[in-house]
Amino acid sequence: MKIENNIEEYDSLGDNHIGTSSNTPLRNDAFRLSNEEKIDIIKDDVRHIMETLGLDLTDDSLNGTPNRVAKMFVKEIFGGLNPKKKPNASTFENKYKYGEMLVEKNITVYSTCEHHLLPIVGRAHIAYISNGTVVGLSKMNRIVDYFAKRPQVQERLTIQVVKELQDVLDTQDVACIIDAKHLCVNSRGIRDIESSTVTSEFGGKFKEEATRREFLDYIKLDTKF
Ligand SMILES: [Zn+2]
Repeated sequence: MKIENNIEEYDSLGDNHIGTSSNTPLRNDAFRLSNEEKIDIIKDDVRHIMETLGLDLTDDSLNGTPNRVAKMFVKEIFGGLNPKKKPNASTFENKYKYGEMLVEKNITVYSTCEHHLLPIVGRAHIAYISNGTVVGLSKMNRIVDYFAKRPQVQERLTIQVVKELQDVLDTQDVACIIDAKHLCVNSRGIRDIESSTVTSEFGGKFKEEATRREFLDYIKLDTKF
């Protein structure tokens, strides 16, 4: 989605944490530069921000920060922008014919709010009903981590995890709930330490009340939907 080039409109869109698309908005030339070239450029950008703020970059404590932050952006917290980092989707045949719901809960989520570049920290709960294909349990954690390592909107992260698992498992019957704290809400702005945000995406059979209820019972969330 594109909106008019109006700073106030962009500001309020970001402050209200409204995402514009279920795909991460990446340019076509996003991987024209190598990681090393990106780190070199971002290092200078971070130094510029710090110098603009009036910090003395010759101080031993600050001297290495631009390079450290640049490496962290490219290789760690935004490393999931690169499709090459996507966990490979090795699946197995469901030999034991387990046709019930499989739930993986309390998967750690470390992500970054794309509107403020501050951390989003929480838990993801995933469920699927196998149609004959299963994935290794750790694969679900890796998929969450891959999509979390991007500038994100929590709703988009939830949808991306479900879509990826629907692809990998070749079934629509996948659901994900994420319960997370946004440090941009908890530490600044309205400064509400206690609040967290719950997002959910229910595919296939999980759109049915009974199946959804079973999933919610398993993860024992008393959230009302
Ligand atoms: Zn934010």
